[in-house]
Amino acid sequence: YEAKLKYSRVMLKVSGEALEGAQGFGIDPAVLQTIASEVAAAASEGVQIAIVVGGGNFFRGVDRWAGLDRATADYVGMLATVMNAICLQSALEALGVQTRVQTAIEMQEIAEPYIRRRAIRHLEHGRVVIFGAGTGNPFFTTDTAAALRAAEINADAFFKATKVDGVYDSDPATNPAAVLHRRLSFRDVLERELHVMDETAITLCKENDIPVVVFNLTKPGNVLRAILGDQEVGTSIG
Ligand code: UDP
Repeated sequence: YEAKLKYSRVMLKVSGEALEGAQGFGIDPAVLQTIASEVAAAASEGVQIAIVVGGGNFFRGVDRWAGLDRATADYVGMLATVMNAICLQSALEALGVQTRVQTAIEMQEIAEPYIRRRAIRHLEHGRVVIFGAGTGNPFFTTDTAAALRAAEINADAFFKATKVDGVYDSDPATNPAAVLHRRLSFRDVLERELHVMDETAITLCKENDIPVVVFNLTKPGNVLRAILGDQEVGTSIG
């Protein structure tokens, strides 16, 4: 039965912005619930799921609030991702999904430290593994953290959950005639500077042959459809 699944192990990147929903800050309980229930459904189909969460709903390093230096601001941003990680963990466990949070900055009272082989072991046991604190390094993004972890755990695909349907030829917010790309190559994305994720993240996926799917998280059922390999969801980059 599991042989019918397109992917056996996937990375799901959920931005902090997605978690804030319409509130503009923090975590929207309805969004958290939706993500958790779709991840739970996908996990119950037998797909091994790793998740990286962003932190932009609480803090973004580049904003350099209160004039903080960049590195300090980035550490605050990484801590913000851990808040999201443990909230998502709690939402998943309420649905009976076994989970582990691993953080790139040690805080063993609330989560395991990141240990690659241990993360893989959890996945093999069917536990959803949520990676918090980004890469543990300032000057990186959680997209890059997700691409890095995806490569480390040998993920078959990288799903970037966003608030838009995928990658467009122009900004759909300002151009109503913007056209959604269905398929793109990594070369297209890099050479045409299409806005998907930062270049470090895209390059990591390209060099490690991890296809990327950019899709809209706010449409019910999309997370599940994407993870189960529905070709019609979003933009595929490979
Ligand atoms: N961050 C960092 N190193 C990492 C990952 C994240 O310094 O490896 C910081 C950075 O300041 C970033 C913040 O954490 O702005 C939150 O992550 P991000 O903005 O990528 O989250 P998202 O946009 O997905 O909400």
